[in-house]
Amino acid sequence: MDSTSHFDSSMLMSAPKEVCKVLSVEDDADYQMALMNSLSALQYDGKKVEFLKVSSASEAAIVIAENPDIAVIFLDVVMETDHAGLGLVGTIREVIGNDLVRIVLLTGQPGMMPTDNLVGQYDIDDYWCKSDLTQAHLQTIVLSNIRTWEHLLAMQEARHSMQLLLFSSQRLSSKKDILEYTHSILEEVSHLLKIEQGGIVCFFNSEQEKLEDALIVAASGEYAPYVHQFASMAIKDEILTEAARQTSLSKKHTFVEGFSVLYFSNKELDGRDYIVVVKLNRNLSCNEVNLLQVFCENISAGFRNVALNNKLSELAYIEPTSGIHNKNWLVREIRHMFSWEREKAKLLMLHVEDLAYTESVLGTKYCDQLTLSLYEYLCDFFDNAVDVALFERDTIVMVIYDNKEYHEANLEQVIHPNVMVEDAIHSLDLTISLVNFADFPNYEAEQLVSVGKSTLERAKYEGVSFLAFSEALASAMFSRYELLKELRDVILQDEMQVYFQPKVSLIDHKLIGFEALARWKNRSGNFVSPEQFIALAESSGLVDKLDQQILRKTCKAINELKAIGVNVPISVNVAGNEIARPSYFEQFTTILREENIDNNLIELEITESQFIEEKTTINRHLDTLKEIGVRVNIDDFGTGYSSLTYLSTLSVSTIKIDQSFVWRMQDSAKDWKILKMIIELGRSLGLDVIAEGIETEQQKAHLLTLGCEQGQGYLFAKPMPLADVMAWVKS
Ligand code: C2E
Ligand code: MG
Ligand code: MG
Repeated sequence: MDSTSHFDSSMLMSAPKEVCKVLSVEDDADYQMALMNSLSALQYDGKKVEFLKVSSASEAAIVIAENPDIAVIFLDVVMETDHAGLGLVGTIREVIGNDLVRIVLLTGQPGMMPTDNLVGQYDIDDYWCKSDLTQAHLQTIVLSNIRTWEHLLAMQEARHSMQLLLFSSQRLSSKKDILEYTHSILEEVSHLLKIEQGGIVCFFNSEQEKLEDALIVAASGEYAPYVHQFASMAIKDEILTEAARQTSLSKKHTFVEGFSVLYFSNKELDGRDYIVVVKLNRNLSCNEVNLLQVFCENISAGFRNVALNNKLSELAYIEPTSGIHNKNWLVREIRHMFSWEREKAKLLMLHVEDLAYTESVLGTKYCDQLTLSLYEYLCDFFDNAVDVALFERDTIVMVIYDNKEYHEANLEQVIHPNVMVEDAIHSLDLTISLVNFADFPNYEAEQLVSVGKSTLERAKYEGVSFLAFSEALASAMFSRYELLKELRDVILQDEMQVYFQPKVSLIDHKLIGFEALARWKNRSGNFVSPEQFIALAESSGLVDKLDQQILRKTCKAINELKAIGVNVPISVNVAGNEIARPSYFEQFTTILREENIDNNLIELEITESQFIEEKTTINRHLDTLKEIGVRVNIDDFGTGYSSLTYLSTLSVSTIKIDQSFVWRMQDSAKDWKILKMIIELGRSLGLDVIAEGIETEQQKAHLLTLGCEQGQGYLFAKPMPLADVMAWVKS
């Protein structure tokens, strides 16, 4: 059918057909009268045959367009023109687009055109010479054509219904959410049956609840006001009440006068029975009931899909052990927030300190309970927290709507919460970051969460328990990020430089060794202080590489110096808790071996605070180093404020007095005393004592007075690259 035509055979569908319409198009009034008389008593299949008559092709076109249910047309060929009838055939088929109606062509002039030609050229179904037709003949022609028309119509209806069914089913299967899905069931059923009365979808658990208590999830048409109410509010009509009762008992669809009540069970998946009520304004034909039954199969599959989809998203959005929503869920919730919600929302990220340690001591189950208790505690505390999720195993994130100002003081109870686990109180330490959504109006959900996370990291870096995101913080974080990117490149490409600072005898300024110090000139040509980049490398897990590179370069320098006859040890530093890393010492000795170094020409500087933290595990390694001839210095000695007695139990060779004592000893009697004590202690334990940061002759003189005979500092030389060292030793 031409898509621009006005004829829609679906308009015929299901319309109760009480009569069969036959149209006579004839300009000979007498003949038309005779024709009608001979057919007046005709009935088809118990239905009356109704005759319409017009006397011209132009009138006929209007009547045919207005009556798409005309089954047969008797059409005279010669009317206002010689071929008016033939012209009308074209109009009916191509303009009006009715290709179902049976057209019987009549002519008064025998031999006008051979039958074959006419039937071949024009889309007609029969061709007769008026004079050849008897009454019996006419009746047969009408009845057989009505029958053919009905068959064609049924076939077209079926094709049309199948198309509708297909499209409806496709639309239904695209719905993933139960609310959306149930709404579209009502829409699609009314579309399929061409009824507008409306209906409801309700669900209940037939084993535990009564149908009256079913909850209406979707309602349309005259039932629209009942959505979210109980089924008993909407199901009042007597026939409907009985049909619904029947349906819920028999668990089968019921078709009664005025209603279709459909039943779907989705017990295994979501534990629900669904009842769909569709109100009708007419009785459904057999075909329509069949169609609906087929459609119900699709609806039923759809319920399964939606429930499966829900199960999947549950798995995707819920952390299985605790049942708490996960990060993906939170991101989805934030994504769906309205802009007015975002304006007053805050994101709080709370990290539980040392949870991994607690887990290693008290077990996973205990930790799961701890997390759950903390979750409940936080939900109680922040009664405006709408979304709470487990961001990581030890980090909870929440979105809060309120106008409160949060700061460290009013969060005390959250920073150090006491929660109940296994009937006992467990105290926790939390680090918290806060981000106002309003500061990031254009940020995606993921980016907002990342800001929360990096603010949290920043809080740890600064050693504070609570940190709210601010502009200043943003730029600090940004430059740290930029620096980190650059540092990563430098380390990965092994471009870190090493400088060497001489260590000398304070008595005669003779060279006794060097300290290797890392140097990094960044892209803008400035030296970044080692304190800054080493902390950065530590926090990003790059420091082991950095120290190994410095060690290797130092080994090469030792061999180069050796080649020009300078045989003095060079000490290297080790970062943070690198010495606690099981493979550290092994890697250290491997590099010495690979670079073919005399072990007594390399020394290791470990800071006093590193010793204190790792003293229980480190001893074994220090013994090994001593055995192979590597000397160990305790760097920054005096800053750890620890008991000095442990010194006697450690395999170290040298105490390196922290420069702060050297700088303060002239002005502070207390520092003078401590320094004196350290030097005496070192000597009594048979350790070498060296002072760093000597800048003046006076400092040197004082140190000599106190009995310290070795030193390092700008007074003698600054740290310098190897080439300068070569020149310096020669001079
Ligand atoms: P440190 O090991 O205590 O190194 C001594 C620091 O004092 C060096 O600072 C050195 O340049 C500085 N210094 C030496 N003499 C004087 C002086 O007379 N006056 C003043 N004001 N300073 C003096 P630098 O190079 O900035 O290094 C700082 C810290 O960074 C080092 O302290 C060390 O802990 C760490 N570091 C440096 N290079 C490395 C490395 O390759 N690996 C590791 N893990 N840490 C390193
Ligand atoms: Mg050092
Ligand atoms: Mg030092």
